[in-house]
Amino acid sequence: MSVWDEVVGQRAAIEQFTRALAPGGNLAQAWLIAGPPGSGRSIAARAFAAALQCEQANGCGQCHACRMVLAGSHADVAVVATDTLSISKDEVRSLVATAQRSPATAPYRIIIVEDADRMSAGTFNVLLKAIEEPPPRTIWMLCVPSAQDMAQTIRSRCRLVTLVTPAPADVADLLARRDGADPQTASRAARAAQGHIGIARRYVHQPEALAQREEAARALLALTSVGGAVAYAQKLVEAANAEAKDEADRVAQSQQEEFLRATGQEAAGRIPPQLRSQLKQLEDEAKKRATRMTRDVIDRFLLDIHSVFRDMLTLQLNAGAEIINEGVMDALQARAEYSTPASSLAMLDAVGTARERIGGNVPPQLALEALLAQAALG
Ligand SMILES: [Zn+2]
Repeated sequence: MSVWDEVVGQRAAIEQFTRALAPGGNLAQAWLIAGPPGSGRSIAARAFAAALQCEQANGCGQCHACRMVLAGSHADVAVVATDTLSISKDEVRSLVATAQRSPATAPYRIIIVEDADRMSAGTFNVLLKAIEEPPPRTIWMLCVPSAQDMAQTIRSRCRLVTLVTPAPADVADLLARRDGADPQTASRAARAAQGHIGIARRYVHQPEALAQREEAARALLALTSVGGAVAYAQKLVEAANAEAKDEADRVAQSQQEEFLRATGQEAAGRIPPQLRSQLKQLEDEAKKRATRMTRDVIDRFLLDIHSVFRDMLTLQLNAGAEIINEGVMDALQARAEYSTPASSLAMLDAVGTARERIGGNVPPQLALEALLAQAALG
């Protein structure tokens, strides 16, 4: 057993971390851990942090320090995760203050920022000063989707570790080992999730999610009119809103309960005026969180759509690559016959354009309508 057990399919990155840990390994104090969504960048950061704090100095995964870090409850390892759209200046300031303190018990004080790309532009300068001259035993780990997501001034002061999209076989192995999935389910889920560990796990634990995805692929392949495309776009947006709202409500509810408990209140109805503004703030955060989650869900839908046209192109070119959406092979084959490789390629581009447009704040419904109309007519 070791802290690296759950860092899946990242041999090069693990080697880079362990080299830095070795005596004389020139341990950098600021790390930029870049990896596509679902590649496990925050898991990698935690594993590295555990290896640094390990009582055996080897990332044993079993000592008290290793276990506390991996569980996210080590006093000298701060993990900042945001599920809202941005990390505020105040949050960054308080992190910087934490970073100035010596570790209480462990060898290092470690600050992990899970979505460092979500720091607002104004906060970069605050952070920049902190990582330029950190106290001797402080280590920063900034996790981002890609190095380009970080301002050059910060990037240049960090040691970069790049994670890859884990291979389906590695993800399947994890699902079988950790989640007890049978090998066939593990393989189907890993392939459909395209290297996104969280989604693959979801497919294993909620088989209906994989069924829904396959149903969506069939609906996509059956589109033949602009009217159908518009209706389908609306359906996707509604599904994304509903999924995001469920999740945001769940988080908001538990935060509210936590708040009421912490302030000794029994029910939200009888909150004294001085606490109401704090509760209001929690509600506002919940709304922002729902917005971000909706975008994340829509992006997942877009990646699913991308995978369908990628499969179609594979069939049309007889390329022999693995089919991602194996469960809808019949529909894929039928459609591949009367469409052309050129139109499949154009659809792959169109998915990229839709993602860019949504990233640039075009309403998702509009971007999806344009994309799906092209799919219907192509
Ligand atoms: Zn240990």
